[in-house]
Amino acid sequence: MAPSLLLRYCGGMKSPVTDYLNELLERNRNHDGGERASYIPELARANPHRFGIAMTTVEGRTYSVGDDNIEFTLQSMSKPFAYAAALDMHGKEYMSERVGVEPSGEAFNELSIEEDSNRPDNPMINVGAIAVHGLLLEKDTPSQERIEYLREFFSRLAGRELTIDQDVFTSELETAERNFAMGHMLKGLSVFDGPAHGVVEGYIAQCAVKVNIRDLSVMGATLSNGGIQPHTREQVIEPLVARQVLSVMVSAGMYDASGTWFADVGIPAKSGVSGGILGVLPGQLGLGVFSPSLDAKGNSVRGIRVFKELSDRMGLHIMDTEAYSYHAVRAVRQVGDELIIELQGRLEFSNAEEILSQLEELEYNCTDVVIDLTRVSEANRVGRHMLLDGLHRLQEEGLQVSLLDPDNILKFKNSAQDDGIHYLRSQQK
Ligand code: GLU
Repeated sequence: MAPSLLLRYCGGMKSPVTDYLNELLERNRNHDGGERASYIPELARANPHRFGIAMTTVEGRTYSVGDDNIEFTLQSMSKPFAYAAALDMHGKEYMSERVGVEPSGEAFNELSIEEDSNRPDNPMINVGAIAVHGLLLEKDTPSQERIEYLREFFSRLAGRELTIDQDVFTSELETAERNFAMGHMLKGLSVFDGPAHGVVEGYIAQCAVKVNIRDLSVMGATLSNGGIQPHTREQVIEPLVARQVLSVMVSAGMYDASGTWFADVGIPAKSGVSGGILGVLPGQLGLGVFSPSLDAKGNSVRGIRVFKELSDRMGLHIMDTEAYSYHAVRAVRQVGDELIIELQGRLEFSNAEEILSQLEELEYNCTDVVIDLTRVSEANRVGRHMLLDGLHRLQEEGLQVSLLDPDNILKFKNSAQDDGIHYLRSQQK
């Protein structure tokens, strides 16, 4: 968690974020069209008035409004997390040979298998998710162990012990002929080796794990945060696995409405027939919305509305092309024999490119160059590498290069020193 500022003022200022979410909830409460999922009898009994919204930042602050402590089953929202578990276990190559990443363009319970490779199209439709479940752990792992493994994995993501809703589990088992058919077909095609029945039972149990929307938003924030659970700080998922999971959520997370969803909302997401929608804004937020009535595509009616509004009003569409209005080079001044170059903002590829192009164009009537990073807020691997590369090129031109990096943003103090870049400790005048 980010260190809180030590303020003297002890008044009652309250962040308005909860109020924003409450307004969103109230504005959408009356949009109560749609139907509860009925093919799982227990879900048809859900209270259609339930409605809640939660948001968790990558720093671990959770905001929630409405029915935020009511539990519901993950259903298809379990699929991205089970896929993450399998990727963590077997690696991307192994998984890609067995389950594809293309949108199927068909309903979630369609038996879609790629003809040449025998792979299910993706892990977000039932046939792909059953395959993923069957690939977890070893071939001969008893079904109960696989279920327990996932329940425990989901609990680490949520940061609390989650349980399985036995009523929903048994209710779905009674009507799961289609899922059992898929299990047998997958086994017949040797996608997995375990007993088909046990694998499908395990998949249905994975779908019946209960969460509330706060849990859902924390699980989403973990994906958003390169796999680090924002409350416990545990690295539950590898960053590249989180990236892979989010990529598939973009193309296949919202059933066959995924294209429209992404154009309208622009947030990687996964919905489930229980009425939940999980949203993940990379590097920023995990979002959870729950309301049981679904539209014809199987997505929560209120959930879709809330996400559209969230995206529009809070500027969360990841394809937004509004540029930030700062330049990476804030100022260049010459003081005696020194050229001081002040940088600002975030240091990633595009800002580093801007800095390097300015370094290329500058006139150097000096012997020393000081790069001042005091106003740089953060840097990623590529930004660091590119800046260091630029500094070496200045050295090759015969200039003395010093870095002013009081917050150690570049985190390459040692190698920079080894490379002959002088590290300034104190603030320049
Ligand atoms: N357990 C449900 C099924 O397999 C999940 C479906 C969903 O949420 O899309 O039918």
